[in-house]
Amino acid sequence: MKSAGKPAWRSDSPVEPANWSDFRDHLSTADREGRRQWLYPRKVSGRFFRARTWLSWLLLALMFAGPFIRINGNPLLLFNVVERKFVILGQIFWPQDMIMFAVALLIFITSILVFTAAYGRLWCGWACPQTVLMEMVFRKIEYWLEGDSHRQRALAAAPWTAGKLAKKLGKHAIFFGLSFLIGNTLLAYIIGTEQLFKIVTDSPARHVEGLTFMVLFTLVFYAIFARFREQACTFICPYGRFQSTVLDENTIVVAYDYQRGEKRRPWRRTQTFEERRAAGLGDCIACRQCVAVCPTGIDIRDGTQMECVHCTACIDACDAVMARIGRPLGLIRYASLNGIERGEPLKVTPRLVGYTGVLIGLTLLLGFLVFTRSDVQTTLLRAQGALFQRMPDGHFSNLYTVRVVNKTSREIPLELRLESPPGDLQVLGRDIVAPPGGHVETSLLVELDPKVMKSGTTPLVVGVYARGQKLETLKSAFIGPRND
Ligand code: SF4
Ligand code: SF4
Repeated sequence: MKSAGKPAWRSDSPVEPANWSDFRDHLSTADREGRRQWLYPRKVSGRFFRARTWLSWLLLALMFAGPFIRINGNPLLLFNVVERKFVILGQIFWPQDMIMFAVALLIFITSILVFTAAYGRLWCGWACPQTVLMEMVFRKIEYWLEGDSHRQRALAAAPWTAGKLAKKLGKHAIFFGLSFLIGNTLLAYIIGTEQLFKIVTDSPARHVEGLTFMVLFTLVFYAIFARFREQACTFICPYGRFQSTVLDENTIVVAYDYQRGEKRRPWRRTQTFEERRAAGLGDCIACRQCVAVCPTGIDIRDGTQMECVHCTACIDACDAVMARIGRPLGLIRYASLNGIERGEPLKVTPRLVGYTGVLIGLTLLLGFLVFTRSDVQTTLLRAQGALFQRMPDGHFSNLYTVRVVNKTSREIPLELRLESPPGDLQVLGRDIVAPPGGHVETSLLVELDPKVMKSGTTPLVVGVYARGQKLETLKSAFIGPRND
């Protein structure tokens, strides 16, 4: 049996043992046996925390109200992968708009690259739903019920009593209820609020699939916020890993000013900072407050690390310490490596210019695609298996199938006109009316005089009109006899 504290490594193993004195060689949240070390980050307060709190209220309001906000009758955002229907800022996108969607995705990825290259993981600390919900909702509930970190540790170590059981059950009941709310909000972004209300109000037997997803999403969010927590950022989210390929020495990150802070040593009240300087000591008094508040359990004084979600808690904690000991704030601050080493301000590097150029180009392309996007998408195909027919008056006819996708949220009555060559076009059945956000399919009969027909195949041009305005031009072929 392995003794605690010794690495699980055999001398004949080809794998190098972890160097436990090097922070890069092991996880801050696992012990030598690989067991998870549960984190109890200390409560934080300060100017960044206050700003993040205000922003979080705005983001949470947007997140939960999002599915109910309507623009021109359409939801603000909808990602209905089941029906392959997407709505962004009230604009409906169909699979036919895939190019536009791909460009929008490229813009999204490029803007992340530009943003990360310049400002590091600002998104993670300030706006990522995982951080906002974990730090501003679930963590605060935990502090409210179980107290600050030292009380939480004591509660965890205490024997099970009725009081401890009530606290734990109460906390997990609230966490589960919140996870249900978050899961349903996500579901509303996927299937829409109308469909979600149907699932909730109809007989459960009619919505087994929807209810399954409801339970699944609830359990996933409960697991993330009650159990996985920082592991969702350090193990699951690819962004943290990907950032190392984008950051450089000019990127603004949450950084410890080691030039000013080192050598770190505890501070004696009898000692002035001039005396500390003379003794080769820096402003860091090794109080570890920055480590105590970190929700991912790392020590920012070791340098930029993949686990750092740039939540700014360590900045606030260190600023409070600096204020207490009468030293300038900002020993831990937003800065670049060059800023800390050479006092350089944010530089616009060729890489940043390149990313920005690509971003502007893609945005212009998207603007062009959106601007020239038609309200309808029509396809005109010759009816399967049909060739041509000779009419009693000597004219020839071809049968076609027309399919119209309406990309708007209003009904569109359509008219089809044969534009070239001259001939007759008849819609078989009722008039074509494309339903909002839906599609309609019907058959067309085109008759041509042999005088305007070419041998074999004659090019055909059909105009699609709505209220007298041309929306699209369709091209197809009219099949006739060959003049051999
Ligand atoms: S909070 Fe500031 S002074 Fe204290 S250990 Fe961290 S960096 Fe040093
Ligand atoms: S090192 Fe600082 S900014 Fe990074 S996660 Fe920890 S507390 Fe937040």
